[in-house]
Amino acid sequence: MDPILSLVNLSKEMSVAPQLTQGAGGNTSVKDGIEMYVKASGFRLDEVGHKKGFVKVSYLPVLDYLQKSIGNVTADSDLKKFVNKHIIGEKNFLPSMETGFHAVLDKFVIHTHPIAVNQLLCCVEGPQIIAQIFKNIDHVIIPFVNPGYYLSKAITDLLPTIPAVIFLQNHGLIVHASSEKEALELHQKVIDLLPPLESDFTFKLLEKSENSYELLNSQLKDINIDLLKNTFFPDQAVVIGQNFQFDSINTEATKLNLSISGKNVINASYKEALAILENLIALKSIYDFSILNKLTLLPIPIEDIAYILGMDMEKYRQELLK
Ligand SMILES: [Zn+2]
Repeated sequence: MDPILSLVNLSKEMSVAPQLTQGAGGNTSVKDGIEMYVKASGFRLDEVGHKKGFVKVSYLPVLDYLQKSIGNVTADSDLKKFVNKHIIGEKNFLPSMETGFHAVLDKFVIHTHPIAVNQLLCCVEGPQIIAQIFKNIDHVIIPFVNPGYYLSKAITDLLPTIPAVIFLQNHGLIVHASSEKEALELHQKVIDLLPPLESDFTFKLLEKSENSYELLNSQLKDINIDLLKNTFFPDQAVVIGQNFQFDSINTEATKLNLSISGKNVINASYKEALAILENLIALKSIYDFSILNKLTLLPIPIEDIAYILGMDMEKYRQELLK
């Protein structure tokens, strides 16, 4: 087995945006002896190639660290430092912020943010519906915890036996297996069992000028401000956050300019604009699904959003009032 070939293959198979991942979200890993190849932070899954987009890490010390760790206020940055210290070879890129849980799981790991999963797991009723659909499949549903250390620790705490299918509330899906084929088949099986997607995923980013794009997607026509005021998954906070405005006269002032007339503009590089657009479509799909199925949307608590953004809670509260 060539671990890099496997990693490239897993990453390519999961590069279905925005349905399975949005922007640089989602990650993959393959273990080979005492080494683990994991997607590098900031790369899209479709950018993982034979020579780029991944980092090699000595994963056993990371597993040991997580098992012994009891957590404290600096737990997240401590884990990051520890993981970075165990990079093997070139340190041109940093490993994914989710390297912790990859170290704990089986040989082949796929982590995605499928809309099909999140349209259920961003709702109050979601865990119960998922538990019913997957009653004959070994799985676990982890209540929302912040990505990075806390999620890695929550998964480590499931040892010694971790179900092959892990649902993450307000976040996404992880599957892991001892072979590449098994991991891919399991991921597909999970998606096939979930309610089908109804959304319009065809989109276009029309270049207006350098670093300015108009978003074209029929579904985004009636996006509303209340939806954007709440955060339903971590990447929404990171990628869209509070960088939006509705019907602004000065459309160059903010990154994301939305209009009820349907003319939506993003002022960013193409890669960032694409990430914003994909996350917006995911958000709108989750919203539309909840309306159609009379489900209650469940936002992430604001103290967690502040944490994800590395902001002081009060400062974040003030931002929200703007
Ligand atoms: Zn994730």
